Amino acid sequence: MSAKLINGKEIAAQVRQQVAAGVEARKQKGLRAPGLAVVLVGHDPASQVYVGNKRKACEQAGILSLSYDLPEDTSQAALEALVDELNENPPAVDGILVQLPPLPSHLDADPILVKIRPDKDVDGFHPYNIGRLMQRKPTLRPCTPAGVITLLDSIGTPPYKGQHAVIVGGASNIVGRPMSMELLLKGATTTVCHRFTDNLEKFVGGEADILVAAVGKPGIIKGEWVKRGATVIDVGINRMDDGKLCGDVDFDAAAERAAYITPPVPGGVGPMTIATLLENTLYAATCCTPTPDAPSRELFVSGGGNPPNKTPPPKRGGFFYGRAFYCPYLALAF
Ligand code: NAP
Repeated sequence: MSAKLINGKEIAAQVRQQVAAGVEARKQKGLRAPGLAVVLVGHDPASQVYVGNKRKACEQAGILSLSYDLPEDTSQAALEALVDELNENPPAVDGILVQLPPLPSHLDADPILVKIRPDKDVDGFHPYNIGRLMQRKPTLRPCTPAGVITLLDSIGTPPYKGQHAVIVGGASNIVGRPMSMELLLKGATTTVCHRFTDNLEKFVGGEADILVAAVGKPGIIKGEWVKRGATVIDVGINRMDDGKLCGDVDFDAAAERAAYITPPVPGGVGPMTIATLLENTLYAATCCTPTPDAPSRELFVSGGGNPPNKTPPPKRGGFFYGRAFYCPYLALAF
């Protein structure tokens, strides 16, 4: 293997330490710890594992984790009522996460995502937050794509500008679409491949300096397609018949051609998703308790933009917690 591994676990651990330092700095200032409410409906085994990992990560970072485990037959009205309650009370809730997918089939995720207050939407899926990202003014960003950007930044390469980024699985609201917006913001020339793309090999092989695979189909990216010297990020998680996990990229062959590559699941993007969730929760708490150098909660004006001449856009370079510099919102190219 000639590619260098992008160690998602290690980079995520660094981010989590930074968040823990930010939480500690808040406490030193007499502010309360950020709080994250995690709502799980039903007993999907994978969701239970994800939620368990998120709650544990919160606790390790000093974030208050509030658990709401609801039965499988919870009604839409009851779930929406809980979100309403968390939106307003208790005041210690800075972030709300409803674990998706899957919700039980009788529940509709869309009204729930819209109901979560944008300033507590630490998953970054509310139309307001997606809209901010589209308009080059990101606030709370979807965790997996933002985590991928942290991974790319951490390897000190690529420079983005002048690079061609190709996202496969780019139609998805959860990963692909926001991923393309993130890479566009960084200044990469961005191509989105989706179900109707003809000749995937042409885009991946000929053009992708940065390749992000997020389809959920094992081996959809053949290793021999990968451009020599490319950076390959495999977001896909697939469970095989023998119970083992694998990604979307044919790892062994791709690692012979790429310069950088994420390790096979679970060591790559997954840990970054959780680390970014913690970053978002701290960011949401900071907006809730503004200081002169922190972004204001008024950024999140329900259904609208910033009031004219009232709220400045967020500082893009990060902000200080005590002596710790905290930078969840990385420098944007344009
Ligand atoms: P998704 O909503 O199912 O999106 C997958 C996208 O791939 C869909 O838009 C789908 O198109 C598209 N697609 C299907 N066949 C394709 C093809 N042949 N070529 C190109 N695109 C194709 O899934 P997701 O939530 O975005 O997640 C994608 C993968 O990432 C999954 O394996 C998921 O488990 C994994 N994931 C990992 C993390 C992590 O933390 N590591 C986080 C989130 C997701 P249609 O819309 O037309 O079906």
